[in-house]
Amino acid sequence: MKHLLFTALLACVTLTVSAQANLDYRFRLDSAALHVTLNYTPVEPDSTLFVYGDLGFGGQTDIFNGIKNLRVSAPGTIKVDTLEGSGAIHVYYPGNTPITISYDVTDTHTPEQKVRGEMFRPLIQKDYFYAHEVSIFLIPMFRETDKNNVTQSLQWEKPLPYPIYFTLDPENRGDKIYTGIYKDFQSTLFTGAANLTIDQVNLGNIKNFIVLRINDSTAYNRPAMKEYFEEYVTALHRFWNNYDGEYYSLIVQPFLDIDYHNSSGIAFHDGFIMKHNNDTILTDYGRIATLSHEISHHFTGHLVSLGGNEQWFDEGFTDYTTYYLLTAIGMFPPEQYTHEINRILRSLHTSELRNTPNDEIRENFWKLGDYAWLPYWRGTQFALWLDNKIVTSSDGKYSIRDLLWACLDAARNKNWEHLTREDFIKAVSKFLPEKEMREAIERYIVNGELIEFSQKDFPSDIKLTYDDSIPVIEITNQKRFKERIAFE
Ligand SMILES: [Zn+2]
Repeated sequence: MKHLLFTALLACVTLTVSAQANLDYRFRLDSAALHVTLNYTPVEPDSTLFVYGDLGFGGQTDIFNGIKNLRVSAPGTIKVDTLEGSGAIHVYYPGNTPITISYDVTDTHTPEQKVRGEMFRPLIQKDYFYAHEVSIFLIPMFRETDKNNVTQSLQWEKPLPYPIYFTLDPENRGDKIYTGIYKDFQSTLFTGAANLTIDQVNLGNIKNFIVLRINDSTAYNRPAMKEYFEEYVTALHRFWNNYDGEYYSLIVQPFLDIDYHNSSGIAFHDGFIMKHNNDTILTDYGRIATLSHEISHHFTGHLVSLGGNEQWFDEGFTDYTTYYLLTAIGMFPPEQYTHEINRILRSLHTSELRNTPNDEIRENFWKLGDYAWLPYWRGTQFALWLDNKIVTSSDGKYSIRDLLWACLDAARNKNWEHLTREDFIKAVSKFLPEKEMREAIERYIVNGELIEFSQKDFPSDIKLTYDDSIPVIEITNQKRFKERIAFE
């Protein structure tokens, strides 16, 4: 018995040692910085290139300035190149000798960076912590074949100054080590606050978490958000008839210094963060639309995505289905639906950039202005056109919902890899002539032509008019419209 126990202990010790992750992160948080220690067991001999900061993320071109006290333990050495603001960190070591890299992540946000500073940069304060994974971890530039085998772990040194929430491991309050593969850490978010509240809502197999910052005078937001979330998310999953997923995080926080901007959101893997500018979260249709848009990305943009260059689908179809769904479940009156659609059509038609070819949008995206909005507008216009064409040509049997189901099936068949334009054409050709759809994608998406709407493309409950050559829709029979878009 004694011998057995000893063997078991030995096995245990061996396991612990071999379970040491390649990238073993230790965090210590105080009000000045997140102190990071990375125990690195090399995956490739002699050297590894790490990158800190993704310039495609929020256009924060000086993000590397926030890294302080970067150093490596002997016998490792380090050489840093700053690549237009992101840091290229070359680490050298003999053979596969484990080394320790350490650095501090500091808060370098300023009011001049406006909304993007508070959305994309790490915020580290006495009572508040907020950071996307790209501004915390070093990104190793491994060969593609190595990437799937690289393990990463994370543990927090105590005491934590306040409760911490990590979207990859939402049930862990920072008291347990998390170990996974390094790819899982991508597109995740950390936050913590003295006034953090966490509510869990289970829907199907998915554990959803609503994470807020609440104090006595804003306590009313907590039940209101829970009620809204349950209603919208239940409808969303019913709309898609899908319950894939394990965790979902909805994080909502007030801006720190911004009072001139209503709200902004960023979706990440399995969740999203919204920041807002006053005490009440669910103030108006605009806020409800922003929240719902971001939640809807669980499907369009996450499970079904056409990738970064085809944001007309990821953003535009998300916008369209969000307004559609909000109206179908009665959170929006039909007038709000037409108001949003007409606003988008007008914005697109009056923009100087309206005919920008699709491939030129992404490279100019962080110039913002209309470049950032074109994918939303163009995709919404296209979704509106397709939805109503599918409805009219099928005599009301099919709608955008069936097209989205076909896209979801296609994504599932590709093991949730991004769909291509060709995959999308295949999906839409189940409902409309393939030749016409191929041309439509080329003209209205690739080349950026405006769609010439025609009344015959709309069912009889929607009337199309033109105001100064800008299309305007109006619902002429609310009862029939509501019955048509309602779903089981
Ligand atoms: Zn979006």
